[in-house]
Amino acid sequence: MKWITHIGFSVLIFLIINNILEITPKHIAIISMIFCVFGGLLPDIDIHFKFFSKHRGLMHSIIGLLMLSIFIPILLILLGFQIVAFCFLAGYFFHLFLDSFTRTGIKWFPFTRQSRGKLKTGSLREGLLAVVIWTIVVLFTLIKGF
Ligand SMILES: [Zn+2]
Repeated sequence: MKWITHIGFSVLIFLIINNILEITPKHIAIISMIFCVFGGLLPDIDIHFKFFSKHRGLMHSIIGLLMLSIFIPILLILLGFQIVAFCFLAGYFFHLFLDSFTRTGIKWFPFTRQSRGKLKTGSLREGLLAVVIWTIVVLFTLIKGF
């Protein structure tokens, strides 16, 4: 999936979390959203840094989430920002979730089968999905507020 789709979906996930948990104060909610988007983009770092993982390899698995990225939520929890850590993990998890619907797919765990769908990254279908996601984000924000 393209970054614009992942950002939109991460913001949507954050809005849902914020709607349920009503994160306060406001600046923590904003930081939580930023970290949700950060988590939602981080797995694709393997496009640029191929030295520890091929694209859609280790970084695109639960093992990658636990091994390579867990220091970020642990640091956040130690600093007292549990909700921010939760939003980061949610962003990361839902990146994997979205990518599991692509033709290339992902492996949730190294020993499991490739989890894949019919969506081609960068295709018109993905573009439409991004438009739908961003439309929901805008409507959600207009109706429910931030
Ligand atoms: Zn990805």
